[in-house]
Amino acid sequence: MLQKNQREPFEIADTVIGPGQRATIGISLGMLSNHVPMELPIRVIHGKRPGPTFFVSAAVHGDEILGIEIIRRVLQSPLMEKLRGTLIAVPIVNGPGFIAHSRYLPDRRDLNRSFPGSERGSMAARLADTFLREIVLRCETGIDLHTAALHRTNFPQLRFDNSATERLRALADAFGAPVTIESSLRTGSLRETAKRNGVEMLLYEAGEALRFDEFSIRIGVRGVMSVMQQLGMFPAKSVSPPRRKPVRSKSSYWVRAPEGGILRMNRTTGDLVETGEAIAVLSDPFGEYEVTITAEAAGVIIGRTNLPTVNMGDALFHIARTGRLAQAGGKIEAITDEMDSHPLFDEDEVI
Ligand SMILES: [Zn+2]
Repeated sequence: MLQKNQREPFEIADTVIGPGQRATIGISLGMLSNHVPMELPIRVIHGKRPGPTFFVSAAVHGDEILGIEIIRRVLQSPLMEKLRGTLIAVPIVNGPGFIAHSRYLPDRRDLNRSFPGSERGSMAARLADTFLREIVLRCETGIDLHTAALHRTNFPQLRFDNSATERLRALADAFGAPVTIESSLRTGSLRETAKRNGVEMLLYEAGEALRFDEFSIRIGVRGVMSVMQQLGMFPAKSVSPPRRKPVRSKSSYWVRAPEGGILRMNRTTGDLVETGEAIAVLSDPFGEYEVTITAEAAGVIIGRTNLPTVNMGDALFHIARTGRLAQAGGKIEAITDEMDSHPLFDEDEVI
């Protein structure tokens, strides 16, 4: 019998989690070729008090591991003792890709193009189906954590779709990434499927594949905690909101290599660039010809290649268009400084 004012337990994958309890559960996905069961490991914290059901996920692309550390730190927060509602944390969605240091699943499919998936489809389709049904559709809101692809770096940025509700836009501001970008939803992506099913999602992009970087991790941890605060999942004022609004961009463009060659970059992620500004030089190995690479429109560099060896057509820089560069620069600087002194990170970089 439930006592008065007590919450219902949370049931997931045949496990019952009472109010105020936590559980780590492996959701069964069937058997791998070496006769080892494949599972989707999740951690559920079911707060004592009622509130929203919220998920945070990482490594949908198996080599995008930065979000795993973000989720680990979020789960370690003492604030979880006071959680209102239910948190479902899925640090490694694409387990086989993670083990193989690969973006893809063993069937060479991209999980983030395989939604909504199906029970009888490919491995990617089955994993998409299970993740969607068991986790995403149980929640009102979620955040999926990504990085740039291999040999590329992204400046911390939050993405939401251009038809996002005011509620989702407010959550994007609460996250406190230096830049927010509106983008259209890709068919088959988790965000597109979630939206069609009434689940609102943010996507965090920061850092590079197979690497950790402290700045991207800190922004991600504060972001997830701050969104949960905004959703009412912690007592009032437990997490201080970002002091500055992000630089907002409604479109971005790629600067591609006109020729193959050796690249020398003189600008990096987080830098602001003017229209026509020289941002890199491409030359042949002998230095006989050189091409200056310029920015075609003013904005902030939100992604770049890490490889100095490029082929013609390679994407060198990803630039988010923005006006008022001086103001944007002030915002980015303020957020960078704030991360060094944020109260969440006072002790041992663990909250
Ligand atoms: Zn990704």
